[in-house]
Amino acid sequence: EQFSGHLPTRLKGLDDALRGGIPFGVLTEVVGPAGIGKTQFCLKISLLASLPTCYGGLDGRVVYIDVESKFCSRRLIEIGATSFPEIFNTKGMAQEMAGRILVLRPASLCEFTESLEQIKVSILQNQVKLLVIDSMASLVSGEYYKEAPRQHLLGWHISFIKSLAEFSRIPVLVTNQVRSQSHDEACQYYFQVHSNAVTPDEAKKYDSHLVAALGIHWAHSVTTRIVLEAKSGQRYMKVAKSPISPPLAFPFIITSSGISF
Ligand code: ATP
Ligand code: MG
Repeated sequence: EQFSGHLPTRLKGLDDALRGGIPFGVLTEVVGPAGIGKTQFCLKISLLASLPTCYGGLDGRVVYIDVESKFCSRRLIEIGATSFPEIFNTKGMAQEMAGRILVLRPASLCEFTESLEQIKVSILQNQVKLLVIDSMASLVSGEYYKEAPRQHLLGWHISFIKSLAEFSRIPVLVTNQVRSQSHDEACQYYFQVHSNAVTPDEAKKYDSHLVAALGIHWAHSVTTRIVLEAKSGQRYMKVAKSPISPPLAFPFIITSSGISF
């Protein structure tokens, strides 16, 4: 890979596995069932990108595409205040940090397309150091789904986002929810489909939503995939796809300071 640089997650095992953190210039996907912590992960990473470099951040702006209206600035400030009290307790700094995160809420696929085109224009001049899309598959479900047939609907968007990452050399973090009666099974199948171990048809019965929405094109566009899952009441984070890391899993918790090991 000619792209160098990483955004450290401060989750030590994960940073070691990924040789520094979330890689620049490529797509990183966080996938898992509802409530597992995907948005919490994005909030923490957004905060880290906006922090001054003397605190290990990228001292930049973040574009956060909040497709499902799940971004919560109060929660962001809570994570900041408990993780970095020295910054967040300085007068005006909590607002300054939160203000660096530009939250976009496209109300339609059309607006999402427009947002992407605008981001491409402004990403370099506005010191944008991270793009988050929470979540990608929900762009072709629910309200959004009404607009058009969803089969591989996002083909253009997937290519555009990938080239955006390459050209701007920033990390792009994308979430996707796995919907299934058995979350463990769904995560497993999602991983297998995306390693081409089973056909999309076979996988459809496990997670028709995700596979139909994003398909194999998406699978191949993602460089690093982190799977979040729960087993016997314990949350785990797995590096499920990576050009450099073997499949490793780490237990994690979510507290007032966000995701931690
Ligand atoms: P979805 O697919 O529905 O968007 P998600 O994977 O994004 O789900 P999150 O919203 O990131 O899930 O995680 C929600 C979970 O985070 C809650 O169920 C709770 O366990 C935990 N959580 C949120 N805020 C706090 C907090 N202040 N303290 C401790 N845990 C919290
Ligand atoms: Mg979420």
